Amino acid sequence: MPGNRPPAPVRLTLTAPRRAKPPRHLADLTMAERRDAVAELGERPFRADQLSRHYFGRLTASPEQMTDLPGGSRDRLVSALLPPLLTPVRELACDGGTTRKTLWRLFDGALVESVLMRYPDRTTICVSSQAGCGMNCPFCATGQAGLTRNLSTAEIVEQVVAGARSLAKGEVPGGPGRISNVVFMGMGEPMANYKAVVAAIRRLTSPVPEGLGISARGITVSTVGLVPAIERLAQEGLPVTLAVSLHAPDDELRDTLVPINTRWKVAEVLDAAWNYAAVTKRRVSIEYALIRDINDQEWRADLLGRLLQGRLAHVNLIPLNPTPGSPWTASRPRDERAFVRRLESYGIPVTVRDTRGREIDGACGQLAARDREDRKAGAR
Ligand code: SAH
Repeated sequence: MPGNRPPAPVRLTLTAPRRAKPPRHLADLTMAERRDAVAELGERPFRADQLSRHYFGRLTASPEQMTDLPGGSRDRLVSALLPPLLTPVRELACDGGTTRKTLWRLFDGALVESVLMRYPDRTTICVSSQAGCGMNCPFCATGQAGLTRNLSTAEIVEQVVAGARSLAKGEVPGGPGRISNVVFMGMGEPMANYKAVVAAIRRLTSPVPEGLGISARGITVSTVGLVPAIERLAQEGLPVTLAVSLHAPDDELRDTLVPINTRWKVAEVLDAAWNYAAVTKRRVSIEYALIRDINDQEWRADLLGRLLQGRLAHVNLIPLNPTPGSPWTASRPRDERAFVRRLESYGIPVTVRDTRGREIDGACGQLAARDREDRKAGAR
């Protein structure tokens, strides 16, 4: 692939198109802002605390359940501060119901998805931060349709609350449970929607009633490597895990797999990652999708090993999830094994991501992609 033809002209979108804003929601606001908003409605400020406790503690947005609020205020408070933001369009489950993917429609018709994965020792929800994505990585289904818009803070938080609600209700096999981990690995580039994502992380990690009370250590933000945003994130005082989607150790190949590399090179991205690790004391996760005969050669494992040796990092290898219309596929098992062994010889911790949810296009923007294809097929 590389070498014999110049890289395609890069179509990258760093700023989101201007669009109508989603309705304001309690989860967009800090506790102080909620009190102000409630006061503007002519209600006593402590109603904001009650409303927040319903939403983040009891995970409800239904006025009937808010019996501690005066009947006359309930509907007004709920319609002003808890508007519905996400409508389920489709739900798919596999792994005996412990992996569940939801395609959501937003107020303006934009589609996003989230995936809930329950394991014996933890429950992870993978959330979207944008509708579509502007980063145009050629192996990723989300990238193919471009960026529709940024999600609001509350649209991000609502994905987690919806997952927490179905777990608390016992809808996921294994009995009632809680969310322990949130990964920003659904649709979108979280560092291109910086303010909303950081506010969402604050809401997720603040204790009830301000937020959902999830540990920051259970949160992972995955990025293509927007260097200024990584530097800024290091200064937020939020000990979240940073995941860098590297996918190639050399600029020549990474320029084609992760086109933003033409702006911030491998060395710059890794410098920002090591700075992040130094400031936060958190081990950085290096994401590497293994693509057959593209980036899975042993010499590339060596190059990667030399880049990461001695660093506070681990490598998460992801067998490529083939996307419709792409010739690329996952590495052969023996090449994958050789890649792992070679990396480990540098003392680098390596995990191979399980391919949970593959039957339901679980990993990578593929349900929304499938929906687009279905509609195209319907139109034909
Ligand atoms: N934009 C962010 C987060 C979204 S994707 C980022 O790029 O990090 C989460 C991870 O899934 C990224 O590492 C991404 O490169 C990877 N990914 C996307 N499509 C994939 C595919 N078809 N197979 C395997 N991994 C994929």
